[in-house]
Amino acid sequence: MLRYDQALEVVIDSAVPTGVECLSIDQARGRVLAAPIVADRDLPPFNRSERDGFAVLASDFRSGAARLDLGGETVFAGMESSTPVRSGMAIRIMTGAPLPDGADAVVPVEKSRVNGDSVELDYENVSPYIHIHRRGADAAEGQELLAAGHSLGPSELAVAISVGAKQVDVYRKIRVAVLSTGDELVGVDQTPLPSQIRDCNGPGLVSMIAEHPWLDMVMHRRVPDDEKLLEESVGSALDMADALILTGGVSMGEKDFVPAVLRAAGVEERFHKVAIRPGKPFWLGARDRSDDGGRRTLVFGLPGNPVAVQVTFRELVVRALRKMAGLRDLDPLILRLEAAATIEKKISLRQFVLGRLVQDGGRTRVAPVDHHGSGDFVSTTTADGVIVLPEEPRRIEPGDLVRFHLWRRP
Ligand code: AMP
Ligand code: MG
Repeated sequence: MLRYDQALEVVIDSAVPTGVECLSIDQARGRVLAAPIVADRDLPPFNRSERDGFAVLASDFRSGAARLDLGGETVFAGMESSTPVRSGMAIRIMTGAPLPDGADAVVPVEKSRVNGDSVELDYENVSPYIHIHRRGADAAEGQELLAAGHSLGPSELAVAISVGAKQVDVYRKIRVAVLSTGDELVGVDQTPLPSQIRDCNGPGLVSMIAEHPWLDMVMHRRVPDDEKLLEESVGSALDMADALILTGGVSMGEKDFVPAVLRAAGVEERFHKVAIRPGKPFWLGARDRSDDGGRRTLVFGLPGNPVAVQVTFRELVVRALRKMAGLRDLDPLILRLEAAATIEKKISLRQFVLGRLVQDGGRTRVAPVDHHGSGDFVSTTTADGVIVLPEEPRRIEPGDLVRFHLWRRP
């Protein structure tokens, strides 16, 4: 059985980015850049006033306050001044306007007293470029502002637009199919018999997938534990998806058909079982098509236990999906926090313990979530992420540092 870090390496190595498409910037929100964004001009593009005030020469203030002649027209944002500023002179200027030629400082309007054609400016320490956002201070023309592999969040979009990126090259969305397997499963619109349960893995996965704008849900189905029906659904899922995620049917049960059906459908097994809890029966495979440019579908067989589904999706599957989507960062947000309670780790597997952040006199610590065994998925609603415990058995005392993966982000 693979150790967790070995399994993670295979998962990541098996994932390959898909194609690239060119989109207009307003369609590219949340998508992953496939080519860098480069500044088409200096940022800021001109010496920009940061205040409403007066454009002046710093050298006129050597002896403190100055009385200067008011000249020219007020320079507003979007305008260019035709009048240069000479020694002994000031021109009114507003925030965002380009500094007139000759001037090298701006004195804020709050420090001024205007008397007819002159202005008294009472401002100490007028140094060159005070209250001026200098041309090229943030970025120079030709500079790479965003590398490929960045996703276009609000700040990235603002930056890309500021340098005129009308069209951008982004990675294609990853098409994901989800199959929830199990004879016992019914949909939320059905009334379960006493022996039946509602499929919560399918909708849970759909909503974890919906958190990522670079993923595209193309199919979501419930399938009974029946080889024929499973074969059919796997066949159509493989045809349309870049990633296929199944839940249930990967353990040692007599109706656990998933691995055999996948192999029969031409999916090459990469590994089965990982030394983790929860999630030990995890199965990984890949199918490369000879037609269709050798397109690969990566297949994840997750155990049916809904806690294991959340853990394996967030700890293993999503990293592969991020790589397929072209993202540079594959890891979740990793924190080292003090434990807020004792945790007794008895097993020799990598263990993921659902954890909840607790505020404790201005400090944030993490406490294991109360639960009733590994299948208690009600407890997941109170978790903010998982405490990740290395393989070796160990007793963790309150105050000991533990590794915590944050799942929920504000
Ligand atoms: P399995 O991996 O198929 O042996 O399932 C393990 C446990 O998870 C069993 O108790 C199943 O009933 C339960 N389970 C399987 N699939 C789902 C699902 N889609 N939603 C909720 N529970 C499930
Ligand atoms: Mg089952």
